[in-house]
Amino acid sequence: MQQAVLPFSVDFDPRTGLSRSRPTIRRKLSQMAGMYADDGAFQRLLAQGDQIVYEFYDLGLPETDGNIAFGASIVYPGKVGDEYYMTKGHFHTILDTAEVYYCLAGRGLMLMENPEGDMYVEAFEPGKAVYVPGRFAHRSINTGTETLVTFYAFRADAGHDYGTIETKGFRKIVVERDGKPVVVDNPKWR
Ligand code: ZN
Repeated sequence: MQQAVLPFSVDFDPRTGLSRSRPTIRRKLSQMAGMYADDGAFQRLLAQGDQIVYEFYDLGLPETDGNIAFGASIVYPGKVGDEYYMTKGHFHTILDTAEVYYCLAGRGLMLMENPEGDMYVEAFEPGKAVYVPGRFAHRSINTGTETLVTFYAFRADAGHDYGTIETKGFRKIVVERDGKPVVVDNPKWR
């Protein structure tokens, strides 16, 4: 039997993504170990302090196909070596479930890759929505100097498979070259 959910509302500040009423889940730099291409740069940065790289929400909606999980994703500006701050990225456990992201603030990219190796990049800028179709792993990357804030919504039973990306990585990474973001091969991909 499905758990009854009553109507409710949540506040998200469009500039910061933060909510006055709900806590975020925070991912710190130390939790991103091994995910950036340059391990030396990672260790040097971590030695300066364990910064928050990104934050997001789990509003605790029942994980059923009739509910829609949603929240704000907040990726802070920064780089590990020349690689921009990013989310870990994930496939959905129910692989063929999609997600939509609507950019509220900042500049960035959504990197998407399916198991067959097809790769797509869409730009985030305020007012732009990015559709992530089913089967595509997705990672938000902050290529700007301000906080990247996006609002996301997906089928609540989709689930998150972080392990595949933690083990294999994405085939491509996004680095800064001459002050601009460029998509290059991930030297760690396997
Ligand atoms: Zn997702």
